[in-house]
Amino acid sequence: MKAAVVKDFTAPLEIQDRPVPEPAPHQVLVRIEASGLCHTDIHAAHGDWPVKPSPPFVPGHEGVGIVEAAGQAVRHVAVGERVAIAWLADACGRCDQCVSGWETLCLRQHNSGYSVDGAYAEYALAHGDYVVPVPEGLDPLDAAPLSCAGVTTYKAVKVSGARPGTRVLVSGIGGLGHLALQYARISGAETIAVDVTDDKLALARELGADHVIDARTQDVAAEVQKLGGAHAAIALAVSNASFQAAYGALRRGGTLVLVALPAGGRLELPVFDTVLNGTSVIGSIVGTREDLAEVFRLHALGRTTVIRESRRLEEVNTCFEDILSGRVTARLVFDLT
Ligand code: NAD
Ligand code: ZN
Ligand code: ZN
Repeated sequence: MKAAVVKDFTAPLEIQDRPVPEPAPHQVLVRIEASGLCHTDIHAAHGDWPVKPSPPFVPGHEGVGIVEAAGQAVRHVAVGERVAIAWLADACGRCDQCVSGWETLCLRQHNSGYSVDGAYAEYALAHGDYVVPVPEGLDPLDAAPLSCAGVTTYKAVKVSGARPGTRVLVSGIGGLGHLALQYARISGAETIAVDVTDDKLALARELGADHVIDARTQDVAAEVQKLGGAHAAIALAVSNASFQAAYGALRRGGTLVLVALPAGGRLELPVFDTVLNGTSVIGSIVGTREDLAEVFRLHALGRTTVIRESRRLEEVNTCFEDILSGRVTARLVFDLT
């Protein structure tokens, strides 16, 4: 099978021919149809984060495909079904986090395309209990970005407290942000979109943002304060300066939800202001299998639109460059059919 492999944090990915792996008793073998390119894969390939993957590895945690073989202990998914392979490759299933709806915080989890090989390949192995069924009728090229960009922002909007009567700032209208904006609108909130490229600002308008701010030429915090301040700000831009701006855009009692993970990510918090304003700052990491099932159902109901361009896996290195230079509409998806 063909796979894109990170061999070194400083080298381009290499397209390799590898043997198709055999599923262990608890695993399924998935023939990948579509594999989304999340900015996290770029961080992984560059070794940007304090906890690093170990090359050689195959990135990819927005994998969608058909179960081609299943180990004998697999109970909840059958050969022929379409499933998604998301960031949460598996978790212990027994700890307090796992049994209380916070499996994404399990200390014993593995992560697709990071601690185990992921979906930048024609086939991938996955845990039979952690793949998420993709409903009939969903286009795999849509389902792929929903498996990380969708579920992550759906969860971030949930924890932000967005609801009718609130004002929600979405900072960064990329792969994640274009979906965050849609979930914030579904929540009933008034929405403010921020980005630094003309295309992304135009996309935000098309998707129905109530206000659009260009962080290149406008003072984000000041503009949002003119509107009354944001009840919640969701930080999705790979930029420390954007975190500071999002924090400054909050109204009293507001919540900053940190999602983006730039290399060396830092936010300086003035304690006095944070206390007096009753500000909350929370981190949000992907979403559970149930969150992803909800994301798929919403999409099946026609409530969300995935903006994406399909590419060939061989183009992976130019795809990374395109994203880093802001030349991408929203999400890139490798079409492996
Ligand atoms: P992306 O590159 O598609 O989107 C980033 C967007 O931010 C782009 O539209 C870019 O133009 C915009 N931007 C850049 N500088 C800005 C600024 N100063 N102000 C406003 N916008 C700005 O990336 P993505 O795939 O959406 O991922 C975003 C980040 O989220 C990455 O760091 C990724 O690793 C992280 N991530 C986190 C989770 C999680 O669970 N916490 C999940 C997935 C991705
Ligand atoms: Zn991701
Ligand atoms: Zn656990």
